[in-house]
Amino acid sequence: MKRKLHCQGEDHALIRCRSLSKILPKTNCGDCGYSTCFAFASMVVSEKLPLKNCPHIDSALLESAQKELDAQYAIGKWTKKDMAADALQWAKERAASMKIMEVHERIGGRLIKDGDEDAIELPYFRDTLIIKSGTIVKTNGETLNRWEQVFIYNHMAQGGKQLPTGKWKGLVELPNTVSKMKSMKEHVEAPLIEHFKGKSRELCAAGEAIGGKVLHDEEVKADVVLLFSPLPRIPVMLVFWDQDLEEGFGAEVKLLFDETILEHLDIESIMFLSERIKQLLCGESV
Ligand code: SF4
Repeated sequence: MKRKLHCQGEDHALIRCRSLSKILPKTNCGDCGYSTCFAFASMVVSEKLPLKNCPHIDSALLESAQKELDAQYAIGKWTKKDMAADALQWAKERAASMKIMEVHERIGGRLIKDGDEDAIELPYFRDTLIIKSGTIVKTNGETLNRWEQVFIYNHMAQGGKQLPTGKWKGLVELPNTVSKMKSMKEHVEAPLIEHFKGKSRELCAAGEAIGGKVLHDEEVKADVVLLFSPLPRIPVMLVFWDQDLEEGFGAEVKLLFDETILEHLDIESIMFLSERIKQLLCGESV
């Protein structure tokens, strides 16, 4: 007997998470990348994961179920709220009250003309951004993903006047960051250590590839010191101590920020930037 696609008692064509799980084989084999069929079903419904990512669905059911899902997505039913879109809207509004002419100096950009329009040319890692009212694009034509746009708009809205002083602080030394320490360790430091332990040279090469400079500072007793300028007013230093298997020390890494960072970025944006540096160094796609 064919398994029913809809919830019992429901006569509409919407597929809810629980009813979708009924057409999945329920073997929890993990071939889709999720540990259970139900977890996969949740992602199909809320994140629009293609149903065909489960290779074990009856092909006759697959097509009709996907059609119903597409209809469901079209009206936004059950899909996860688009956080990036909301955040982008908020950040744009936050930055909108500022005129391009007033912002460029604070964030260290160059005022240019793009056609008849005023625009800011702003270095961003190894790229250059062109910021106009309401749009941010790279000069090579690539677009920034929405979270990166949120990051840039927040910087524009926050951007203070103070230039970096060259005095470095770890996240822990900045106010109101206690709740972010765990996230920094888990999402930035641990993956960097895992990726680069025993590979100091690779770390230097990866850092230089994204525009970092290897410093040979006698005062900083570390195996690698990299200086990044992701944005003109925002230098970031990465300090790496490699593992010493003979002495029994594990590797360690710290990101340091100029003491003026909070003039230019809020804490959430500092976390975003830290993760972005980690992603670029580790070659992760975003
Ligand atoms: S591949 Fe299909 S059967 Fe296996 S766990 Fe994923 S959804 Fe379930």
